[in-house]
Amino acid sequence: MHSHTKLFRIIVAAVLLVVAVLIVHNIELPVWQQLLIFLVPYLVAGYDVLGEALEGIMEREPFNENLLMSIATLGALFIGFLPGAATEFPEAVFVMLFFQVGELFEHYAEDRSRKSIAELMDIRPDVAHVEREGGVQTVEPTSVSVGEIIEVRPGERVPMDGCILEGETTLDTVALTGESVPHMAHLGDSIISGSVNLTGVLKVRVEKTFGESTASKIIDLVENAGEHKSKSETFIARFAKVYTPIVVYVAIALALLPPLFAENFATAFPVWLNRALTFLVVSCPCALVISIPLTFFGGIGGASRRGILIKGSNYMDALSKVDTVVFDKTGTLTRGVFKVTAIHPEQCDEEQLLHLAAHVERFSTHPIAVSLREAYSHEQDGCTVEQVEEVSGQGVRAVVNGKMVCVGNTKMMEQLQVRFHPCELVGTIVHVAVEGEYFGHIVISDEMKSDAREAVAALKAAGVRRTVMLTGDRREVGEDVAKQLGLDEVHTELLPAEKVERVEALLEAKADGQSLIFVGDGMNDAPVLARADVGMAMGGLGSDAAIEAADVVIMDDKPSKVALAIALARRTVGIAMQNAWFAIGVKVLVLFLAAFGVATMWMAVFADVGVMVLAVLNAMRALKS
Ligand code: ADP
Ligand code: MG
Repeated sequence: MHSHTKLFRIIVAAVLLVVAVLIVHNIELPVWQQLLIFLVPYLVAGYDVLGEALEGIMEREPFNENLLMSIATLGALFIGFLPGAATEFPEAVFVMLFFQVGELFEHYAEDRSRKSIAELMDIRPDVAHVEREGGVQTVEPTSVSVGEIIEVRPGERVPMDGCILEGETTLDTVALTGESVPHMAHLGDSIISGSVNLTGVLKVRVEKTFGESTASKIIDLVENAGEHKSKSETFIARFAKVYTPIVVYVAIALALLPPLFAENFATAFPVWLNRALTFLVVSCPCALVISIPLTFFGGIGGASRRGILIKGSNYMDALSKVDTVVFDKTGTLTRGVFKVTAIHPEQCDEEQLLHLAAHVERFSTHPIAVSLREAYSHEQDGCTVEQVEEVSGQGVRAVVNGKMVCVGNTKMMEQLQVRFHPCELVGTIVHVAVEGEYFGHIVISDEMKSDAREAVAALKAAGVRRTVMLTGDRREVGEDVAKQLGLDEVHTELLPAEKVERVEALLEAKADGQSLIFVGDGMNDAPVLARADVGMAMGGLGSDAAIEAADVVIMDDKPSKVALAIALARRTVGIAMQNAWFAIGVKVLVLFLAAFGVATMWMAVFADVGVMVLAVLNAMRALKS
């Protein structure tokens, strides 16, 4: 909308400029009447620039590009009144017009890159087939509510998150995770919006509204990522604070000093004033101001196509300067899918022990809980489970059929003063106590993620100085995993609060100006995710809490994406730096030419636009992988 009115204004001003030039060419008019005629297109083109410059002065922050353009063009309008100077009315209007074209181009480029990101991600679903009034209706996904049943046909994009009620299929999630191998989905599985149904017809019960569904969330995240300014962007703001006043003072000096030393001030002044004004036009740092945010924007889009959501360009900066990477264990380096390897009951039989554990865990979302429920197939029977209390980093207690049952690790047992028996087997031990009496334990074990070793090796290769694992699990298990993966350090048997302390110590110890990344699954580690320079969460294909808390989300839960995120961030920051140096370099060159009278006002304008176009094209490279 905004850019349409701007385009309209530019066209009107351009037409008025042509009219003004024709009038002045054909009719002899005094200079001040010519000025009045050119003021019309000038004000149409640039009233907002003048307004913003004035606003800046009123707010005592005058030095911005609007001021530069205002001084340069007003100067050009009035230079003709000096004795012996030629008038420069068309130039003044044209410079203002060109500046506005540049601004328009900026809007357009940003719009384009937003659109192309959305297109490349290509996950916005168009329609939903919903079962209503005994038939199937095709409607906008936004009008479907939670609990309704939708049909997803082969070849269609899943419109919203839900659970499969009928049918099975293979799903393509490449647009969400960058994972190109389709995977199977069966009855009861959750599926997420944005994936493509390849083979079967599915009936899906909707579990989230369109706005709350994964596809919408991802699109939102990417589109709003620009709101967090990166340090490189604030660098531009700081740079402009120093740069703009210097430019203004140099221009004043350029207009006044050489004429003072000239033989005839009156004839020298207009010449130098003209150079000073050209100098001001050249000095406008448009290319820099435009291309750097655009580069970061492209980088974020490029990363999201590989299944890495980066919530702001400031995190790009931090990612590119990584020193320490800290991992959580369960669900991050390991799959979080535990298998029961042994059951050691003491007062009951194996089945009963498993029964108790699964019931206490009925409402927990911890990977251990999910696995125990899985292992005990009759979990949803008539038993009552009440007063459930989850103690993070320890376990869960609940009243099952009127008896207090506690399920957790040795910390929990110690706290309850239950006399538990240690287990000689390797694995995570889940102890069970009923009414303060020990009932035995279940040994479960997790598998390493297939790319975990490779992930750690890639970080080392990328120059990460320190790799650390934190876990609430047993020492034996933690140390075993750390050794297999080749991590530098491991700290075990930590409570969530102790994980925060560890991370704080590591933050102290990291090198100056470098950053610490924490990678977790959002389970018991949300405070750490928030505390780290960059908190990265395993998105777990849809786990909201983690997506919310983290700065970066890895959609397919692969730890190897950490190194990829670092590489992409470095590339993006590199392109931003190239643009900065290129723009500044050309600027300085043309500034010199202008100061010595070699560059005209026309050249200045074209140089600026040229640099801007090249910088924007370079910025778009960040989008491509
Ligand atoms: P990690 O740091 O490896 O991600 P957590 O901090 O989530 O692990 O949990 C630490 C330990 O606390 C687990 O190894 C387990 O012994 C115990 N624990 C946590 N939650 C549960 C639960 N729901 N049921 C049983 N034990 C649990
Ligand atoms: Mg965890």
